[in-house]
Amino acid sequence: MSDIIRLLPDSVANQIAAGEVIQRPASVVKELVENSIDAGATEVHLLITDAGRTCIQVVDNGKGMSETDARLSFERHATSKIKSATDLFDLHTMGFRGEALASIAAVAQVELKTRTSDEELGTRILISGSNIELQEPVSCSVGTNFSIKNLFFNVPARRKFLKPNQTELNNILSEFERIVLVHPDVAFTLHNNDVELFNLPAGGIRQRIVQIFGKKINQQIIPIEVETSLVKISGFVAKPEGARKKGAHQYFFVNNRFMKHAYFHHAVVDAYERLLPPGEQVSYFIYMTVDPSTIDVNIHPTKTEIKFENETPIWQILLSAIKESLGKFNEVPSIDFDTIGMPLDLQEGTAFSSNDDSPSPPFVEINHSYNPFDKAASYGNGNSSYNPKPKVEWEALYGGLERAGSKTESAAIGDDPFSPTPEQEQEEQKIDYNDNLFNDKSFKQYQYKGKYLLTSVKSGLMLIDQRRAHVRILYDRYMKQISQSKSVTQKVLFPEVIEFSSSESVFVESVMENLVSLGFDLTNLGGRSYSINGIPEGCEGLSSVKLVHEIIDTAMQRGSVPDEVKKSIVLTMAKASAIVYGQALSEEEMVALVDELFTLESPNYTPDGKLILSVIKDNDIEKMFH
Ligand code: ADP
Ligand code: MG
Repeated sequence: MSDIIRLLPDSVANQIAAGEVIQRPASVVKELVENSIDAGATEVHLLITDAGRTCIQVVDNGKGMSETDARLSFERHATSKIKSATDLFDLHTMGFRGEALASIAAVAQVELKTRTSDEELGTRILISGSNIELQEPVSCSVGTNFSIKNLFFNVPARRKFLKPNQTELNNILSEFERIVLVHPDVAFTLHNNDVELFNLPAGGIRQRIVQIFGKKINQQIIPIEVETSLVKISGFVAKPEGARKKGAHQYFFVNNRFMKHAYFHHAVVDAYERLLPPGEQVSYFIYMTVDPSTIDVNIHPTKTEIKFENETPIWQILLSAIKESLGKFNEVPSIDFDTIGMPLDLQEGTAFSSNDDSPSPPFVEINHSYNPFDKAASYGNGNSSYNPKPKVEWEALYGGLERAGSKTESAAIGDDPFSPTPEQEQEEQKIDYNDNLFNDKSFKQYQYKGKYLLTSVKSGLMLIDQRRAHVRILYDRYMKQISQSKSVTQKVLFPEVIEFSSSESVFVESVMENLVSLGFDLTNLGGRSYSINGIPEGCEGLSSVKLVHEIIDTAMQRGSVPDEVKKSIVLTMAKASAIVYGQALSEEEMVALVDELFTLESPNYTPDGKLILSVIKDNDIEKMFH
């Protein structure tokens, strides 16, 4: 038998390697711009055509390359940045394994023009699918000018797989943002189809953040700063008032490189404990500097997950640095502590209309005329200025107070500050709805301010938070469906494609069973992409990609305890599908909601421990009219 093993030609080997390094136009942008920065550029211009499909051009004023270097730079493992294996552990330059240019040249048509300051003429090279097509002297300015045309022209499967332009452009923009946020000293411009999207003059970090995210953010961020032997942390975090439900700008960098770090993210979340309404996020821009030998970036240029040797102490340092800044900039509400006298009422579930008098954003501006002990009076003032926004923030406060007042607090589980053990708390606060609910037939259910359902019970007037009630109902329903595998899948007409990061996709596989039993139908398209062919019945109208991302994001934060993960998945689903505040309900809907709520085992609290209902006792009502 003749020999069958052959060495792959370089062009094929490079194409295979390219699959790893260059996944989409954004990867090209990242590699080229990082190279420009490594070359000492103080100005980098990025010109994109058709979201990078047609052309990606990066022009810098860095040190440029000699003729030989220009030619060599496209060879695999050609790099000026590492000389020995030990350099691999030194994360000072951006790229560090000499694969980017070889990979790009394997899957695109590349034009390079470059000149160093000690040469009169520069070098121009045309290379297409790893074949050098032309090399000639050219007159050009000092620096480097790369044009990458028709990416994946020779890998049709990949080219076909590119997302719609908007998605690819978004990927480019986020890659761009991650880089420019660590290099405020470098000026950047970005054009897409000749439209200028960014023009970022050199400046400081705060200026750069403002240049990218808009002037408004300037008032919302405060600096953090700490230096220890293990880590130096600097950057900015948002004031609690800048919190939002979605789309906070959250960035961690280590040694000038963007990273994702779920564990450190939790340190930030913890630092804001009680300052934020549940579910709201703050922006942060946190820059860490550590000894490169204490982190493992797995030497993969596309890697954003980074392992730290000193994770736990750094977690602590980060947490206290943020807390200190929040304290220093007076963002911790003193009222948080002033209201300690209130939980008594809350425990009886009666402190309601006092909320209505809540001062506007209590975390920031404190209404000094507010008297937390003046509740009796406020009961008579039911229609006083109600403002849904501060209301939510008060709830966060109350959330804390309820916990503080709860004897079972120490039993609260793990790392989620908003997870007391509701079942246990309930023991103390059981409300007498059981056998005397709806006894007053003449009483119609009443929806108050699109948020609460009012109904009469024997002992008084019951208020039910409509959204929380629905979350509880759906949560219990989905849990049951999971355990009985009875969910119904709604096929979607046009399956959307969802892409996960590598750690996410590993996680998705591990929870696939749960997703399927909830009614999701996901097909792996190869790699980290899935198509969403079906979603659970009842979730129609929601963006399936967003929903799945949200489920996975939240569940990943719960760690690896299968039961916790399952609960988190179900809770996210319930929250996504539950009715919202402001939704008008018909009489029948209200009755159905309340009826169903009281068939449940734990109608008093949401699965994440928030109060669903409360009763203003007859006695207290009587007192109001004394
Ligand atoms: P790496 O960045 O890992 O060294 P690349 O394939 O990205 O590998 O680049 C190969 C080499 O080409 C670099 O080490 C550098 O010497 C040179 N190079 C690439 N881009 C530039 C640039 N914009 N200016 C100057 N030199 C560059
Ligand atoms: Mg590089």
